[in-house]
Amino acid sequence: MTTSSTPTPDADPGSGVHPDRLLEDALHRVWGFSSFRPLQREAMHAILESRDSVVVLPTGGGKSLCFQAPALVPNGPQGGHYEGKAPRGGQFEGRIGVALIVSPLISLMKDQVDGLRVDGVSAAYLNSTLTGEQRDDVIASVRDDRCRLLYVSPERLMGDGSHGLRRMLQESGVRFIAVDEAHCISQWGHDFRPEYRQLGRLREEFPRVSFHAFTATATERVRRDIVAELRLNDPLVLVGSFDRPNLTYRVLRRGNLQRQLLQILARHENEAGIVYCPSRREVEALATWLGAQGHRAVPYHAGLADDVRSRHQEAFLDERADIVVATVAFGMGIDRSNVRFVVHTGAPRSLEHYQQESGRAGRDGLPAECVLVYSGADFVRWRQMLETNGELTDSARGLLRDMERYAAGTRCRHGALVEYFGELYARGACGACDWCLKELDLVGDSTIVARKILSCVARVRQGWGIAHVTDVLLGRATEKVVACGHDRLSTFGILKDESSAALRGYIEQLVGGGFLLRDGEPYPVLRLTASGAVLLRGEGTCVLYREVQPTPTKKRARGRLPDPVAGGADRDLFDVLRDVRLRLARERGVPPYVIFHDTTLHELVQRRPRTLDDLHDVYGVGAKKAADFGEVFLEALRAFSERQAGRTTND
Ligand code: ADP
Ligand code: MG
Ligand code: ZN
Repeated sequence: MTTSSTPTPDADPGSGVHPDRLLEDALHRVWGFSSFRPLQREAMHAILESRDSVVVLPTGGGKSLCFQAPALVPNGPQGGHYEGKAPRGGQFEGRIGVALIVSPLISLMKDQVDGLRVDGVSAAYLNSTLTGEQRDDVIASVRDDRCRLLYVSPERLMGDGSHGLRRMLQESGVRFIAVDEAHCISQWGHDFRPEYRQLGRLREEFPRVSFHAFTATATERVRRDIVAELRLNDPLVLVGSFDRPNLTYRVLRRGNLQRQLLQILARHENEAGIVYCPSRREVEALATWLGAQGHRAVPYHAGLADDVRSRHQEAFLDERADIVVATVAFGMGIDRSNVRFVVHTGAPRSLEHYQQESGRAGRDGLPAECVLVYSGADFVRWRQMLETNGELTDSARGLLRDMERYAAGTRCRHGALVEYFGELYARGACGACDWCLKELDLVGDSTIVARKILSCVARVRQGWGIAHVTDVLLGRATEKVVACGHDRLSTFGILKDESSAALRGYIEQLVGGGFLLRDGEPYPVLRLTASGAVLLRGEGTCVLYREVQPTPTKKRARGRLPDPVAGGADRDLFDVLRDVRLRLARERGVPPYVIFHDTTLHELVQRRPRTLDDLHDVYGVGAKKAADFGEVFLEALRAFSERQAGRTTND
């Protein structure tokens, strides 16, 4: 692998222009973006001022740009040091130096380096996939100051035999060190990687460069670990909003899972999605079944051979597969930006996990959907599993309870999620969740229904599970019910007009709402909590709902961007452009989204640019991409218009 031979869009280090201008210029010229996302500018300033920083932004928040753009801009006059063995007499005069990016996975490095090169930025990675010659090329490009960003894994940087690499870097002058996916350093994060711990030692060898950590994990504990382990010095901590307004959240109680899935998939024809399943067995079964239904689906889990797994991952990234059915083993390496839906067929063990996994939808900012299909039994199963592994601590229980509360929640999902992560949710109705879209049918006399259920739980002496309590409420004189004399209780048949599915749903909502507790071995039984007892006494209220399926017209959040499933000519043109993109991607051996994002294709459809000049205003079209791909896309647009005109005159 060699570094890009095209002229790099570096700023001229001697120009004396204010770094802010240079950053903005890079944003427009190199990436074709019109403005910074929240906190990007602040994060970039920290780098240019050589101030250590921790940047916490949600998935899709644009963390990579925070270190990529400053790598092209020389440090300001006051701020900034180049690292060097002996920075005597202007040794680094006129040099920009390389930014060192620590990244945990080869696929992530490749993705970013591919993307940067298509944008005309010279970037490279060092990892085990390179030949000796390729590695020498990369090192030469760093030495000659031709490489702006160098990606390495922590093993490569700190492991055995890495001493020479670090010395080379010291001699060539490192601009700054960015640690991506920095939560990997913390045991409390969800992807703990022991090798990340070694990174703290870099401080001694590079005492004058600044360190910048990036993560999407918002918890305080993880953040503290990052600061301590990387030995950050009075870091600037930037924490962004965790709301993802383009995602529509829905929760369904698991009924006929296949039917529920088909309904979700019908809203996403030919679109990319991830279906997370709790076990490998379920992954295999669902992937096979989806294949039989005519979907391009591949399975992904840790039990598959390495080559099969990477083949499936690549098929998904290259858009040869639309759906990945996966266990949570599938995730961190996935930067495909146009994932339009993420379905969980079971509840994850915490809201952190849910947020992380569902957050892989809609990184491009276009509307996307996250559906949690769950049942109360999921939580019982989690508790049993954690218990078996000796992991059922108070904190694990608490996390599960919070997850359960979200699932059974009777309020805006966006609000529930961001408040869980410690933010205030000021917006009223979000317009992008089942609650706010009124897809949940409220039970008019919720509190009364709830009291009847709680009363029944009390009468069966808090010793029975959901099925039995449901039988009693429905007035079913089963053998067990009769044997216990529960057919003589005042609550026998007290809700006989409800369906058993609806009753189960209410009970699960009461569990999720903290009015009932469901645990015990070997059969979980229902018990009243303190708030359940209060509600039963006649104080307070509670809300219950029935589920209704979203109708096709309310399936999407109304975003600023065009509806990707809009039919007609626009859809045809979009597909044409998508084919062009695919061809270009194949020619270059990169995933299609590296060429252009869906957002860019949508803008091309909307604006129908005719000239290269028009093209420069389109989202995501930087100078390099305009030069490389502009004509091809303009030609496709022209041909489409002509065909369309021909069709109208013939009519
Ligand atoms: P993160 O690492 O925070 O999950 P990424 O760095 O992968 O997010 O960025 C997500 C997407 O947002 C990418 O497709 C990126 O090109 C895009 N993006 C980043 N910054 C901007 C911006 N200022 N304007 C428009 N798009 C942006
Ligand atoms: Mg990232
Ligand atoms: Zn809402």
